[in-house]
Amino acid sequence: MPTIGDLFRLAQKRAPTSFEAGELFRFATGVGPLDDWSGPATSQMQADLERCLELREGGYPIQYIVGGWEFYGLPLTLGPGVLIPRQDTETLIDLALEYLKRAALPTPEVVDLGSGSGCIAMAIKAEYPAAAVTAVEISEEATTFLERNISDIGLDVTAVLGDMREYTHPRKIDLLLSNPPYIPFAELPGLQREVLHEPTLALDGGKDGLDFYRAIAVRYKPQLAPGGTVLLEIGAGQRDDVCDILAGAGFAEITSHNDLNGLPRVIRARG
Ligand code: GLN
Repeated sequence: MPTIGDLFRLAQKRAPTSFEAGELFRFATGVGPLDDWSGPATSQMQADLERCLELREGGYPIQYIVGGWEFYGLPLTLGPGVLIPRQDTETLIDLALEYLKRAALPTPEVVDLGSGSGCIAMAIKAEYPAAAVTAVEISEEATTFLERNISDIGLDVTAVLGDMREYTHPRKIDLLLSNPPYIPFAELPGLQREVLHEPTLALDGGKDGLDFYRAIAVRYKPQLAPGGTVLLEIGAGQRDDVCDILAGAGFAEITSHNDLNGLPRVIRARG
């Protein structure tokens, strides 16, 4: 009969990284670092770990297997039907917080378009509680996760089920945020096998990947407060096009900001 330590070594052998091995082991066994690892593993632990490792080996995202992941220190519940938050998106959060602190408005009106799990909206509310944060999401499945995360974590974020291309905010917006779908349609089938398990709705940016930037630029320019700012996450090679789209819609002070890998990841502009 294998010991708990044997199961840990099994996970280490089969998971793609030792970090993932640790997460899958912990999820499947419920065993922590302070427990005794020399004792026998139960057959339930063995079966659960085997199932997790098989799913992972088949390219199923670890975040869906363990049912959640951390983003900006927040424990988010995740599953099929909602985009998995990426570390790249922390760049957008950092810039948003920088803006909020500099503007120092008493109740800045913040809107996150295509909120998915709510990672952006909730990180902003957690780090800057004075903000009035609205999260707009078109997918009912994703909105289920969004609402659950809002209530589990206990942050006062308003979830709106709706299409960002048609949404009108009831008040002027001080800070508009979005990580919209930005993958060119033709590139979708060639994505990493993990990404293929994520909702197409959250990835498909149309023929050139830029559909949502065009829609956002036109629809939200008139909805911004004076001095209002927009921060948009972008994909590979989209910097110049997104800057042009924003300039064409009348935005000013357009700048590009790199992620931790040194790649252009966020475009900032003033309305
Ligand atoms: N960052 C995601 C990816 O490339 C894409 C998310 C999006 O389209 N906004 O995997």
